Amino acid sequence: MKARQPLALLTRLFGGGDALDGHREKILFRIAVVSAALLAPFGINNLFIDRVPLGLAILVTVAVLVTDAVAIHRGRKPPVPFELLLVPVAVAVALLLRTQPIYGVLWTYPAILFSYFVLSRRLAIPVSLGLLAAATAMVHVYIDAGTALRVFASVLLTIVIVNIILGVVNDLHARMVAQTITDPLTGAYNRRHMETCLDEVIERQRRTGASAALLLIDIDQFKPVNDRFGHAAGDSVLRTVVALVADRVRRLDRVFRIGGDEFLLLLPDADLSAAQTVAEELRSRIAASAIAGTPPVTVSIGVAVLQPGQQMDAWMHAADTALYRAKQQGRNRVDCSAATVAAS
Ligand code: GH3
Ligand code: MG
Repeated sequence: MKARQPLALLTRLFGGGDALDGHREKILFRIAVVSAALLAPFGINNLFIDRVPLGLAILVTVAVLVTDAVAIHRGRKPPVPFELLLVPVAVAVALLLRTQPIYGVLWTYPAILFSYFVLSRRLAIPVSLGLLAAATAMVHVYIDAGTALRVFASVLLTIVIVNIILGVVNDLHARMVAQTITDPLTGAYNRRHMETCLDEVIERQRRTGASAALLLIDIDQFKPVNDRFGHAAGDSVLRTVVALVADRVRRLDRVFRIGGDEFLLLLPDADLSAAQTVAEELRSRIAASAIAGTPPVTVSIGVAVLQPGQQMDAWMHAADTALYRAKQQGRNRVDCSAATVAAS
């Protein structure tokens, strides 16, 4: 575990995440086709001019790349794991560094790019640093210290640049993922993400028996707020309600906007009494908060605890029925689903 820490630090330093996961086969296929076409003539030439180990290492590299590319093209799993692809590549570069150091250095740059686009970032970082060390050391031994220093600086700069590029790609990817699961107005999660999270909680209960509760929260008489104060004021009420809910909940609790003025708060590991406490606190907090430029709003909340074997629709329906009762009973109140109360 400890040995992983420096690597984790490096990954963080260079910007973690791995946006390329899921695209690696497509990337490898393209790199493999171009590399095979470019490398094969050098491999054959080396065999002819009696550099047999180097020629063989290049041709083995071509062969494994082609094998994986053909499998990917046919929609099959690549037979050679991507990590192993790097073995013939490293051997070929090392042999070249030994026999013709400057040519070896030239191939170090694409080998580094190859490692970052085909391997996970966690693996590519040590691999690229290894290539940097090997290229610098070999050039130092076989050429001179001045050239080694320049190789070190230029290879290191390549590593830094590729990490910056991947850092930006990862950032953009993380932003895009966040956008697909977030409601842009309030910053709460959206309905699509809610279904994923509820499914996870239901599955967890099936496996471990862990309890979970959901709160359906609906703003009372919200339409008149819009009508009297305008849509912008209404939007600001929606944002404030979400901020108040998010501020009160625990780290694993999740707030979703599931309709115009309707929100769902998912409380993993909560039983009826915990859920009721949270609901009552939220209700009174929202009723007590003054939202600038609008009259104080209140919310009604329906609470339902997940019953054993219950599906998502039934769970939400139970909370919806409780919410409906809370509205019927005069609003600004919390009501619990009958099944939830009976089971507790
Ligand atoms: P009730 O107490 O029964 O819930 O009354 P209500 O007026 O809140 O009832 P209803 O659910 O019919 O009203 C929801 C309103 O939410 C209607 C619509 O104008 C408003 N709304 C929906 N989406 C948005 C939004 O994105 N921004 C704003 N400002 N208003 C929205
Ligand atoms: Mg409403």
